[in-house]
Amino acid sequence: MIIRPIQKSKIESVDFDNLSFGTIFSDYMFVCDYADGAWGEPEIIPYAPIQLDPSASALHYGQAIFEGMKAYKDDHGDVWLFRPDQNIKRLNKSAERLAIPQFPEDLFQEGLHKLIDLDRDWIQSGIGNSLYIRPFMFASEACVQASPAKEYRIMIICAPVSSYYNSGEVRVKIADHFSRAPQGGTGYAKAAGNYAGQFYPTQLAIDEGYQQIIWTDAATHQYIEEAGTMNLFFYIGDKLITAPTSDSILDGVTRKSLIEIAKDHGIEVETRQLSVSELVEASKNNSLKEIFGSGTAVVVLPIHGFGYKGENFQLPKSEDSLALRLRSDLTSIQYNRTDDPYGWRVKV
Ligand SMILES: *Cc1c(COP(=O)(O)O)cnc(C)c1O
Repeated sequence: MIIRPIQKSKIESVDFDNLSFGTIFSDYMFVCDYADGAWGEPEIIPYAPIQLDPSASALHYGQAIFEGMKAYKDDHGDVWLFRPDQNIKRLNKSAERLAIPQFPEDLFQEGLHKLIDLDRDWIQSGIGNSLYIRPFMFASEACVQASPAKEYRIMIICAPVSSYYNSGEVRVKIADHFSRAPQGGTGYAKAAGNYAGQFYPTQLAIDEGYQQIIWTDAATHQYIEEAGTMNLFFYIGDKLITAPTSDSILDGVTRKSLIEIAKDHGIEVETRQLSVSELVEASKNNSLKEIFGSGTAVVVLPIHGFGYKGENFQLPKSEDSLALRLRSDLTSIQYNRTDDPYGWRVKV
């Protein structure tokens, strides 16, 4: 692996108290190119714009995928990753679906560790602060043929981020017309195009006073799937319900970690389809206690209300919510404030 050192760190110019998510990037980036049927020598080089041919197929046919993960600093200054094996496995699963070549897991881990080690000063300690890590792969070949490219690039870039939570109420709209991912489509992959297709319907929902959309199955719009970049949990009665992963639902690392933590706390978790009518009914008969989203960026995001076909529903207020307990349990593991019986934490 080639490492090209920076001349001078940019870190002095960064205001860590006023970070806007994903807008400031660290000193280094990881790059590796694929050509002639093989990956070349990976490099870690100073963060900078890249050159891309205007005919690069990623720009025309969306042959592009990404991942999202974080590095955390504990109170002793040690740096930790959370289940990084899951991210490279999922990146390769996404790659397969988009006809992009597999990237070797060991090379990914080695590059990731070296990169985070070089950028470790960019991670602030304290719950909520982290280095958001964005691995991505795209077709870089100069060619407008509508077929899989023969050249690709994988990169990893890093952005220091602080707590994602705003204090306002989060209200979501349940989709009854637009769809995120059809059965048999690319919904389970972190494919760039999955997100572009959500921007327009989400903007319409924002104009109606919601922040996000809860997607339903594309065929019938009767079953709840997930939000734009979050999986969803519903606390109804004494059961925590989340949709089973499928080819239209992203298999979130946060989701599966929360399921394990909740079960170990004796909470009954049901991984099953939840219909919109069951949700509306549960809200009307007051058995719906909480809704929350889960994802690397937000960790756990409590949802305060939802709208469906013009009708609005409010969640009850609770002092000691399950969402906040689970968030605290998960972040305690991520920031090395408690034991990690699961073996999820990986030291850098
Ligand atoms: C990334 C993502 C999630 C959350 O996955 P995590 O691994 O928990 O970060 C959920 N849904 C979609 C559509 C996503 O892209």
